[in-house]
Amino acid sequence: MAFTYDDSNIFARILRGEIPCDKVAENDHALAFRDIAPKAPVHVLVIPKGKYVSFDDFAANAAEGEIAGLMRLCAEVCAAEGIGLEEGQGFRAISNAGSHGVQEVPHFHLHIMGGAPMGPMSG
Ligand code: C5P
Repeated sequence: MAFTYDDSNIFARILRGEIPCDKVAENDHALAFRDIAPKAPVHVLVIPKGKYVSFDDFAANAAEGEIAGLMRLCAEVCAAEGIGLEEGQGFRAISNAGSHGVQEVPHFHLHIMGGAPMGPMSG
């Protein structure tokens, strides 16, 4: 599968240290930071350090270590923020992909949202 990655996207600039972010956690493969416009009491974005456009690009093309690294960082964030099922009342993990998914930033990211009931999914 061919995906075209745009190096000028805002998360690429965050990863290069060109613009700041409110970092929550980091490992070799992924970075977690607070969403600049939170839609929940806890709203953290988890992004791979590699260049992947979308969920499907990442799922198809990332190395297993990168996938594990990102998922483990999600678990770490949930635990640290007190929203994991071991610590709290749960959360929602969402990835918007492409135009139908209303993806704004073309660097794969997972939204981790919790701290209050999320309400039902709407179309
Ligand atoms: O999934 P989608 O691409 O639509 O979401 C992008 C998210 O990135 C938005 O929730 C927006 O608030 C967030 N954002 C951010 N920091 C920036 C630019 C966007 O947290 N500098």
